[in-house]
Amino acid sequence: MEISSIDLSAATIQKISNERTRAGQVNLSVLRLDKIHPVISGNKWFKLKYYLQDAMSRGIKSLLTFGGPYSNHIVATALASQLHGIKSVGIIRGEEPKVWSPSLVDAHGMGMELHFISREEFKSPNRDQLIHSFNRDNEPLLVVPEGGSGEAGVLGASEIWGLVEKSAYSHVMAAAGTGTTLAGLLRSAESGQSVIGISVMKDNLSLQNHIETLSGPDKKANFILNQNYHFGGYAKKNTELMQFMNELYKEHGLPTDFVYTGKLMYAVLDLINKNYFPPGSDILVIHSGGLQGNRSLAPRTLVY
Ligand SMILES: *Cc1c(COP(=O)(O)O)cnc(C)c1O
Repeated sequence: MEISSIDLSAATIQKISNERTRAGQVNLSVLRLDKIHPVISGNKWFKLKYYLQDAMSRGIKSLLTFGGPYSNHIVATALASQLHGIKSVGIIRGEEPKVWSPSLVDAHGMGMELHFISREEFKSPNRDQLIHSFNRDNEPLLVVPEGGSGEAGVLGASEIWGLVEKSAYSHVMAAAGTGTTLAGLLRSAESGQSVIGISVMKDNLSLQNHIETLSGPDKKANFILNQNYHFGGYAKKNTELMQFMNELYKEHGLPTDFVYTGKLMYAVLDLINKNYFPPGSDILVIHSGGLQGNRSLAPRTLVY
């Protein structure tokens, strides 16, 4: 069964040209994965694809996954499961909030059963116990790691390259949460290419190694995880970031989210400004979606 509403042909490449790119003599292209679907957006579809295929081919009718209360992965999994006729359970980090986030409301509305566990328990969940307690009909249940991490997620993410002419780019950049998307991009990048991740978390020192390990032994490209653009940590923000996102939208019609792609684009343009990229570089930025997350911002914070 295909999700007919996923439209890969909508993932256009948007060229961004401004004072900074002209001064730095670089070409900047953004792959708009945010446009393939409003909910199962961007990288989430690629990371889920093989998990869903696995479930369908083995006749598995329920899936269990993990995420925070604002997780784009939770919402994307809820809808993708529903569209495939698969039941889903979301194990959510932390106590149940008095007011559910828009992501939780949506996921629940899409048929996902939500179960809240403490932050401590979330760090090393007792999988067997969780599987047991949600496996009511004693039927097999597929566990999808948080963020769609794991081999199936990496394999799916490596297929993002299929949407572009790979050899046209000297650099590819993406935001890093679990790092699964970057591991997939790194796995299939060519020798001589540079893969650059922008970490959205503060002091996630093991992430660089984690991504290299996840990507596997056959990588040919260089990989750097830049840790300087987290803006205080995961889902943290300030007025400078909000202003930047609004300006980017006004000048280029490019909407970004404040958790991942806003920080990514800020980093890209700042690095260009600092002459990080040699003149003549062809930079591909992966817009990994996540715009639904902006609904947790106060009204009118963003102009779009
Ligand atoms: C989930 C998400 C990411 C993080 O992807 P990882 O593969 O976990 O690193 C990046 N961007 C957006 C918009 C996301 O929703």
